[in-house]
Order: sequence, then C-alpha cells, then structure tokens
Amino acid sequence: MDYLPVFLDIRERLVVVDGGSTIAARRVERALSAGAKVASFDPKPDDELSALFDHENLTHYARVPVRADFDGCFVAYGASEDAARDTLLADAAKDVGALCNVADVLEYCDFITPSVVERAPVTIAISTGGAAPVIARNLRARIEAMLPEGYGRLAAFAATYRTRIANTISDGRGRRRFWENMIEGQAGDLFLSDRETDAIAQINADLATADTAKPITGEAWLVGAGPGDPDLLTFKALRLMQHADVVLYDRLIGPGILDLARRDARRINVGKSAGNHAMTQTEITALLIKLALEGNRVLRLKGGDPFIFGRGGEELEEVAAAGIPVQVVPGITAAAGCGACAGIPLTHRDHAQSVAFVTAHGAGGVLDHDWTKLARPGQTVVVYMGLGSLGAIATNALAQGVRHDLPVAVIDNGSRLNQTVITATLETIEGIAGDANLNGPALIIMGDVVTMRDKLSVNGVQEEQVSLGLSAQQGL
Ligand code: SAH
Repeated sequence: MDYLPVFLDIRERLVVVDGGSTIAARRVERALSAGAKVASFDPKPDDELSALFDHENLTHYARVPVRADFDGCFVAYGASEDAARDTLLADAAKDVGALCNVADVLEYCDFITPSVVERAPVTIAISTGGAAPVIARNLRARIEAMLPEGYGRLAAFAATYRTRIANTISDGRGRRRFWENMIEGQAGDLFLSDRETDAIAQINADLATADTAKPITGEAWLVGAGPGDPDLLTFKALRLMQHADVVLYDRLIGPGILDLARRDARRINVGKSAGNHAMTQTEITALLIKLALEGNRVLRLKGGDPFIFGRGGEELEEVAAAGIPVQVVPGITAAAGCGACAGIPLTHRDHAQSVAFVTAHGAGGVLDHDWTKLARPGQTVVVYMGLGSLGAIATNALAQGVRHDLPVAVIDNGSRLNQTVITATLETIEGIAGDANLNGPALIIMGDVVTMRDKLSVNGVQEEQVSLGLSAQQGL
C-alpha cells in the first residue's frame, strides 16, 4: 500500500482552494459537505464555482492567494493549473503545516483525492494510488450500482442504538454479534424495505432478550475455498469469512483469498508444506475444538471442497462429538475448477459418461489402484495428490494394460495466475511433465476428454478465455 487511507475531520477547519474551474468547484463542494470553512481564491471563477458562493461556510476572494491567506489552514488544494500559483500554494502549505494537494502535480501532494461513493454517513473511498484513476472510477460505478440507497439511512438509524446496545451488552464479542444479527438479520431487512416501525419493534425485542449473562457459544465452520482464484469462492464462504473470529488455513489457500477475511480475525497457518510440518491433523482438530469452546467462531478454510480429499469428514466428526455447532460450506473442487480453467470437460457425450475422483495417496502411502477398471473406455479419471507419483501411476497403469496413448493432462496451479497445463499420453506424460518443473498443487486428468482442450484451441477459444476466473480479474 503506497498511501495510508484515513478520513479527516475537517469540521470548522480552514480549507483553502485556489482555482476557478470545475476541479476547484469539486474540491470546494466536498470540503463544504464535510463541514469545513472554505476560502476560495480566483480572479475569474467560472459559473460552476460561482454557484457555490451562497454557502455560509464559503468566502470567495476574487484574487490569487498570498502567503498570509494560509494562516490557520488545515488543507490546501491547488486547482488553478498555473505553475506559479501551485508553487506558492505548496510552499505556503508547508510553512503552516497544512496538508497539500495540487491537481496533477504529484510532488506537491501530501495526499491524493479518492473516488468516493457516498451513502452518508457511509463513505467509501477508492484509490489506485494514482496508478490508474480509470479503474477507481470504474469500481466506483460498480459499487454505486451495488449499494442500495437505503444503506446510508440504515447506518444513521443503527447509530441511534449505539449507546443502548453498549449499555446492555458489555462483552465486546457479544456486542459485535448483536450488531451483525441486527444489520444483516430481520431488523435490517425490515428497515431497508421501509418498515421502520417494525424494525424498531424487532430491535427492542432482540435487546430485551439479549442474555448478557450467558457465555458466548462458539461455532465451527468447515469452508471450501475453491481451487485458488478468489473469484471462485462462494457467496456463503465470503460471508462467513467476514464474520469469523479465527481462520485456520492451510497451504492450498492463496493470499488473495485470505485478504477477504475479516480484517481483525486471527489467522493461523496450520498448513503442512513439504519439509515443514506445521501441525498434524490431530493437532489441527484439537485447536479447532479448543478455539470454538472458548467462544470463537472458527472458520476452517480448506482448498477446494472440504469433503473431497480434504479430511473434512474427520474434522466434522470430532467437532460434532465435542458438542460444537458446525456448518459445512461446499467449495469448487480442484477437478471442477481445473477442468473448467484448462478447457477440459470432465464428461462428454462422445467421450466420457462417468468420472472417477481418486487420490494417489491413502493413509498408508501411495495407493495401488486398479487402473484398467478406473481408466476404462468412457470414464474420465481425476487423480488428486498425484504429481509426486506421476511416474509410478503411469508405469502401473501401463503394466496393467491401460492403452499407452490414453490422453493425460496435468494441471498445475489450476485457476491461478500461474496455471500451467500439460497434455500428453500415458506413455509420455512423465517425461514431459518432468521437464516442465511443476511445483504443485497439480491435478492429473486421464481420458479422451483431454483431447477436447486441443479442439477448443483449434476453434479459436484460447486458454485465457476459457479461464473465466482469470480473465474476469484482468478485465477490470
Ligand atoms: N479438498 C481439495 C483437495 C485437497 S487434496 C479439493 O476439493 O480440491 C490436495 C490436492 O488437490 C492437490 O494435491 C492437487 O491434486 C489438488 N489441487 C488442489 N488445488 C489445486 C489447484 N489449484 N490446481 C491443481 N490441483 C489442485
């Protein structure tokens, strides 16, 4: 982050705006709406600026500012597009210790002006650190479209309950939960659908029954995070991530996803990267239970889907046995995510009428699968955790009589920006994948559907277009 986002209290403080055109008018307007005393300077203000002159907190001077005009100044805006005036303004601001912003002259700027979405008292400020203002404007338009007008009113309404809620519920965590239930629950819905009286009745009822003596109960949420692209999270996963007190995650979870968790949630890496055994499965489950029993809402974030080779079943069993309320949220499993992002449909009327998900490893090491049965005609086989034993898998399958030209794909880091897809046959895959120095996580797909990838390319659908998740991110 190149700039620190803050919201300044400028009520009754002096803001100097030098300039007479649209940019100056915008600065004046914004400063006035935040309650500042504004001194505007320009010998020839245009109509837009002049239209603001009636405001009681604005004084306009039909001249260029001089040094003495900056005494007591808190924020100085240069918008004259005149180099000499800009320099005077920046020097004067520095002298008096005012924060300075000069339009389009970054070296004079102590701060930059964000794009703003206003639902007073809710204010959303967006910045790209000056890198691409068009993106900020584009985002602003999207957020504008997304936020119901009523949100500002809801915030103002909720604020009137602050003291009562603080006095009724003394525990900080309990208070946060009450707020969440109020805003996202029935009371919030009633208010946003213009039923303020019913909303008030609901809040009063909730407050009357808020049991402050009862200890806070924890919960455990087993949540699938999908294959890696944050756009492939479910809405539910995202919502719970924003409510969790603690997030336990492992190495399959990329930083882009973790960033979406509630900002002050504790994040614990329980991941087992090769050679660095952070925690055993038993320790992870024990920690999950301990944290939930302490009253936390613990989110166990797992790559893909929690119930597909994710040991979610084992965790669920133990957590439920400890009497902790549990929710399971499915995620896009690697097979579905990698298939889509690599342009390989897992089933196809002409090629595969069934699909098998298998793991290369079991509790006791590399598994001895019956490959002729798995890779039979008309069935796609998806192998999880198989990169390290790709050679052994191919050798076994060939020895068992699986056809040597069976199409095979290896998808490394599927759905992520560094996705690599390799296609070959059962006979050649080991060598070709070996040359590619893949890092994993990687998924193996075997079967005639793999040839569809080439057909998609032949038809002009390039990989970037098939990887919808990626192009959506880049298309901002
Ligand atoms: N629960 C997860 C699977 C966990 S097992 C799911 O439903 O996807 C871990 C294996 O998943 C890895 O060894 C790899 O085979 C596969 N995998 C997970 N994410 C992947 C990704 N982004 N690209 C390729 N393979 C992935």
